[in-house]
Amino acid sequence: MTDHVEIVPWASDLWRRLIEQQDQGRLPHALLLCGHQGMGKHAFARCLAQALLCLHPEDGVACGHCKSCELLSSSTHPDLVHLCPEESGKAIKVDQVRDLTHFLHSTAQQGGYRVVIVDPAESMNVNAANALLKSLEEPGQRTLIMLISHQPGQLMPTIRSRCQRIDFPAPQHEHAVSWLVERLGLSSDKAAQLLSIAQDAPLLAVKYQEEGLTSLRADLMKGLIDILKARATPLELADKLQKQDLLLITGWVYSVLVDIVRLQTASEAAKITNTDMEKMLSAVAKKADVTALFVLIDQLQAERVGLMERHNPNRQLLLETLFMRWNGLVR
Ligand SMILES: [Zn+2]
Repeated sequence: MTDHVEIVPWASDLWRRLIEQQDQGRLPHALLLCGHQGMGKHAFARCLAQALLCLHPEDGVACGHCKSCELLSSSTHPDLVHLCPEESGKAIKVDQVRDLTHFLHSTAQQGGYRVVIVDPAESMNVNAANALLKSLEEPGQRTLIMLISHQPGQLMPTIRSRCQRIDFPAPQHEHAVSWLVERLGLSSDKAAQLLSIAQDAPLLAVKYQEEGLTSLRADLMKGLIDILKARATPLELADKLQKQDLLLITGWVYSVLVDIVRLQTASEAAKITNTDMEKMLSAVAKKADVTALFVLIDQLQAERVGLMERHNPNRQLLLETLFMRWNGLVR
């Protein structure tokens, strides 16, 4: 994925507000950027870090060519620390935060701000969060700690209360579609469909497109149909997908199940997420028992919570069970 840092247009008011605060010396030392994943929080935090660290910002925006900007573009700026899990989906560990404490107690090497981005903040385990608390209490001068959170409810209240909370704005549907059209060169129909399967998160949609996740999803959907038509077994599909991102896979199955419920319960045309799969969804909606559907949705949700809490599941078994239950819906 290209690491593009841009302020998405739906966050431009927020951007102006923060730059104004910075001009007036009123920028808080800790910000908690909250919002659904894929709305542009990370790029926004990077832009703000750049603007603060740039030696010659122009109208609040980094100049792009000073020494600081050069260090930033090569990701070697000594005054910016980016804390994220060492492995995707794992926890941010206490040792990582301890290194940070040391960083915050030394002088900024370029003589300006020191900036920390923690992303996502809910990845910190309890020890890591406790270690960060001290830094949030006494961050030192000209320091900005930005916590990015997709699920702020999972953060310790003591962490939340030490930050200024910012609810990151979400774009209106049609704005997001036209942004995707421009960004990815898609037709508006394709862009709308992509946005829909990315749960209305524009940057997630970009990621799906750029990382080929749309074809992974297509494999999953084809597999679900094949199981229904007895062209493949749950075991075979589980085997094929078990090395993939299970949160992503189970999230897609979850949205399929929710769509089926919508089709069963809507009196008129139901608004569904997986618009490209309507034929399969309607077929299952006609046959599936509503109670069995809700049981499956609950079971899947529990599995997903376990995955989010980073339990180590038996991947093959988890998927196999899921696909067997899927098969059971229409038998
Ligand atoms: Zn610069």
